[in-house]
Amino acid sequence: KDTINKIAAGEVIERPASVVKELIDNSIDAGATEIRIEVEKGGKHSILIRDNGCGMSRADVLLAYKKHATSKLTKIEDLDTISTMGFRGEALSSITAIAKVEILTRPPEEIAGTKVVIHGGKVEETSDAGTAPGTSVHVRDLFYNTPARRKYLKTDRTELAHITDTVMRLALANPGISFVLISEGKPVLRNTGSNDLFNSMVNLLGPETARAMLPLEYGTEEFQIRGYVSKPELNRGDSDQLFLFVNTRPVTSKTINTAVREGYYTKMPKGRYPVAVLSLTLDPGEVDVNVHPRKAEVRFSREKEVGDAVIRAVEKVLSEHGL
Ligand code: ADP
Ligand code: MG
Repeated sequence: KDTINKIAAGEVIERPASVVKELIDNSIDAGATEIRIEVEKGGKHSILIRDNGCGMSRADVLLAYKKHATSKLTKIEDLDTISTMGFRGEALSSITAIAKVEILTRPPEEIAGTKVVIHGGKVEETSDAGTAPGTSVHVRDLFYNTPARRKYLKTDRTELAHITDTVMRLALANPGISFVLISEGKPVLRNTGSNDLFNSMVNLLGPETARAMLPLEYGTEEFQIRGYVSKPELNRGDSDQLFLFVNTRPVTSKTINTAVREGYYTKMPKGRYPVAVLSLTLDPGEVDVNVHPRKAEVRFSREKEVGDAVIRAVEKVLSEHGL
């Protein structure tokens, strides 16, 4: 049973960035307005995430790490909405099965908090603990008990790059939440939750990139597209960078990637690649997210219409700016 649990956990958690994503998702679900992420050695040695969300009572936290334990009701109509992305109740059970985890948590209305230490799925300690309202989850030695998995991890630098990308996407998707990412004690990313996407781009993509971004708004009956695309003269390296959110969730979509490029095609100097931050809002019933927890590749029931709308939206904003 232990082995099966570890294999299942490896399905959900591929690398340190998967832990970061799942824990940030939980903090967002807990209503946090501030999320702090500290990592060491690309997250392989240590990942610490602290939020100021609703916290958990002792009874809740002792349930939370069990498989399929979730406080988030899955209504039938939720099943085909994007809000049920990923597997339910698998994250904490997976992470605690393959790492050494310490959870410190306190609901704001309770006086005492709880500390729970779980190593490889086994509770080592439960005690009262003084802590600020909210939750902190400290994950150490990821895959310490699954050496075969651990071997597949890349260098600290590469794993940190995956974490940075994950945090950047989640921070851009949630401009109302403050995010800080710290690696080896030094800040890597910081965004104050000003609830302003442009501000978030200044903080996360840098002022030079943000200044080169053109605001875009395009709507049809079925869906709205809002966001920013870069002016063709922005030279930002050797590949395009698309930050895509569907109903506020960070996702990827080949169709939309292609559409952004196509919208740019005629305007783009050779060797220049666009940066785009696009937020799509549409009926969740029209969206299908790959059920695999690690992937966020999205499909639309009207794939072609969505792609065409993105092409037109990009062409429109570029031509409005005389390009
Ligand atoms: P899911 O998010 O799908 O419910 P998880 O395994 O990620 O499953 O979390 C299990 C449960 O633990 C959640 O439903 C929630 O009740 C609780 N939980 C996890 N993280 C937090 C947090 N940061 N703040 C408050 N509650 C949390
Ligand atoms: Mg979760």
